[in-house]
Amino acid sequence: MDSDVIVVGAGPAGSTAAREIAAAGAGVLLLDRARFPRDKPCGGGVTVRCAELLPFSIAPVVEDVVTRARLRIRDGREIERDGGRTLSYMTQRRRLDAFLVERAQERGVDFRDGQLVTDVARRPDGTFAVTTRDGTHRARVVIGADGANGVVGNRLGYDAIADGAVALEGNIRFPGGVPAEFRGRVTLNFGYLPGGYGWVFAKGDHLNVGVGGWRRVAGARLRPALRHLCRLYGLDAERIEGLRGHLLPIQQRGMTIAAQGSALVGDAAGLVDPLSGEGIYAALASGIAVAPAVRDYLAGAASTLAGYRAALERELLPETATSAALMAIFQASPAPFIWLMQHSDRFWEGACRLVRGETTYVALSHTLGRPMHALLGPTAAIGRRVNARRHPPG
Ligand SMILES: Cc1cc2nc3c(=O)[nH]c(=O)nc-3n(C[C@H](O)[C@H](O)[C@H](O)COP(=O)(O)OP(=O)(O)OC[C@H]3O[C@@H](n4cnc5c(N)ncnc54)[C@H](O)[C@@H]3O)c2cc1C
Repeated sequence: MDSDVIVVGAGPAGSTAAREIAAAGAGVLLLDRARFPRDKPCGGGVTVRCAELLPFSIAPVVEDVVTRARLRIRDGREIERDGGRTLSYMTQRRRLDAFLVERAQERGVDFRDGQLVTDVARRPDGTFAVTTRDGTHRARVVIGADGANGVVGNRLGYDAIADGAVALEGNIRFPGGVPAEFRGRVTLNFGYLPGGYGWVFAKGDHLNVGVGGWRRVAGARLRPALRHLCRLYGLDAERIEGLRGHLLPIQQRGMTIAAQGSALVGDAAGLVDPLSGEGIYAALASGIAVAPAVRDYLAGAASTLAGYRAALERELLPETATSAALMAIFQASPAPFIWLMQHSDRFWEGACRLVRGETTYVALSHTLGRPMHALLGPTAAIGRRVNARRHPPG
């Protein structure tokens, strides 16, 4: 056996799973097709609740600290809200992901980049053969952290993820420093794309600009929406570098994410937050959640990795389901939703507490549910119906 565990994909989900599994004493081989450091289409926003999942600080790769939000519906009046304390950190994925891999290597993970995995097969003895261009590796456990519809899920017969959002993003350089009006805050614009938003995020020497929305309806509208976003905030769309689009996968309720000796984490499991599009939080949370199940499986205390699914069912999956229900309301009519964020202190403080990890979607939907439904009225009913169609009970 080459190692106890092979993790395919070294994004936040894969490096975290590898680090946690190695910390529990197993031998881990972490493979990624890209040469690191590598970039990834992403806003690079790391909420406080996300950063706090890690047992170390990400300060060395933080390029801006966000305490405020500029919120606007289409071309309407902009409202700036102050969160009082830190809401999120701005990072570049090229630096964040390399930093997380280094923390995994410190725990003894054998990381090999430039290794495209082309095949994964479960052998008759229950072990796995993972094939790269350079050869075949064997392990008792394989973890798919290779993004939406990656090779691990595909070859081992996991369901494909058909649902989700699409986003388009790129960078505008400001070598002398980004304009002050964008620093220390997120700039968000709502209403142009169904089920999504546009953003301007400040990094050390550039602004990251992007737009995202529900895949089935937003796709063809991404480019004009991004140009419009730039115009609205006085930015030159012609100066955007590295324009890239990518899927934000959202799993169907009940989708299989673990089986005998294999599991999917992060985007490979479709764990992106449907309402906010935040995916790094779930990548880390699922990477952490899978480790105890792997430990028990390797020790012979469990015959499958079902304990991983059970761990997600306790916290993350109810959150995803509640976020999906809110998303359906938001998609049906974003304006009242954003109006509440702009004008209701209770609603804004709830959102701040959510991104800081001081509350959950489930708890918020209980405390804010009644005033929200009273204000949104018929919109909320539409949302419930839309969501019931997307996620039939059971
Ligand atoms: C435009 C956009 C903006 C976003 N902005 C944010 C944001 O601001 N904040 C946030 O929290 N989330 C954001 N997200 C979501 C976030 O980027 C993802 O949810 C997150 O990257 C998931 O991490 P992961 O480790 O599961 O997968 P990934 O980060 O996609 O990592 C997968 C890795 O697998 C490797 N891989 C794939 N196939 C193979 C193979 N066959 N062999 C070997 N290696 C392979 C890839 O090279 C890659 O390194 C955004 C997404 C998009 C598209």
